[in-house]
Amino acid sequence: MKTIYSEKHIKQNSKSELAGGQLIKPYECPERMEYILNEISSRNLGEVLKPQAKDLKIVKKVHDSNYVEFLEQAWNEWKKEGYQGEAIPTVWPSRSMNSVEIPNHIEGKLGYYCLANETSISQGSIDGAYEGVKVVLTATDMLADEKSLFALCRPPGHHASRDQYGGYCFFNNIAIAAERLFEKGANKIFILDIDFHHGNGTQAIFYNRSDVYFASIHGDPKEAFPHFLGYANEKGNGAGEGYNINYPMQPGIPYSEWTKALDDAIEKIKSYQPEALLISLGVDTYEKDPISFFKLKSDDFFDVGKKIASCNLPTLFVMEGGYAIKEIGINTVNVLKGFEGSSS
Ligand SMILES: [Zn+2]
Repeated sequence: MKTIYSEKHIKQNSKSELAGGQLIKPYECPERMEYILNEISSRNLGEVLKPQAKDLKIVKKVHDSNYVEFLEQAWNEWKKEGYQGEAIPTVWPSRSMNSVEIPNHIEGKLGYYCLANETSISQGSIDGAYEGVKVVLTATDMLADEKSLFALCRPPGHHASRDQYGGYCFFNNIAIAAERLFEKGANKIFILDIDFHHGNGTQAIFYNRSDVYFASIHGDPKEAFPHFLGYANEKGNGAGEGYNINYPMQPGIPYSEWTKALDDAIEKIKSYQPEALLISLGVDTYEKDPISFFKLKSDDFFDVGKKIASCNLPTLFVMEGGYAIKEIGINTVNVLKGFEGSSS
């Protein structure tokens, strides 16, 4: 399987994450990519190709144009205020506030456009995010000629909604892939999100549509980020009713439990008969992940790949989370090797 990868992801190199009341080094860090690349190379997964130049106008088809312009200007506006640290919001249009007005001041804008403030904006953050978009667009455009591809995106994307960032995500890479496939004439796409966290951004973007079926297997939001979306009763709206399915799962579950949700999702994929399958590939379901609570073991990831392959569809894997960084390469490549029919 070919991998598309841009070393320029490093432009997103924020130094601070607000976690547990402290500013720590972000879990979502550039080194994650090194471990994955090493494993791709040492186990001969396939060629690693650079992204091609792409027209990025599509970003404003998936995301609100004011949001995109905000992201492009946020760091400069923050610096202009003389702040010393990275851009982190401190106030939100929360339930008792006016959530419609967009303030002029950068602090207000950050609160308006941010859904979770572990994600700092620093110089280059958005340039890094655009590299992820180039990676996913290049991979999507190659899907016509390949059975499967791996878009090794960083930063991840599935928490970014039409006009909000957070959960380390700025642009929703997998939603942009789906949009590109529609531009090229596709009629039905299935997005399966197997990251530990609910793909709230992807769900929100496609919630009213029947031409994208979204399924997510994740930590129960009563117990896990993003807390305010990802419940089992969210089934789509309007034309999209019946085309969204969430599998919130309890803390501590092993693969034998987790995979029952995967089996059910795979039945949904087969009966929906999409033209392509897009996988939000997070490996933070791993037992040693520092911010998650499932108990999947490294060998289990082969079986995940094998089951996804049973759908027999053009398949694009898009990298999302995974924070046990020493094992992130092993676990990611195990999914991809499992997809190709290997178990080692
Ligand atoms: Zn995650």
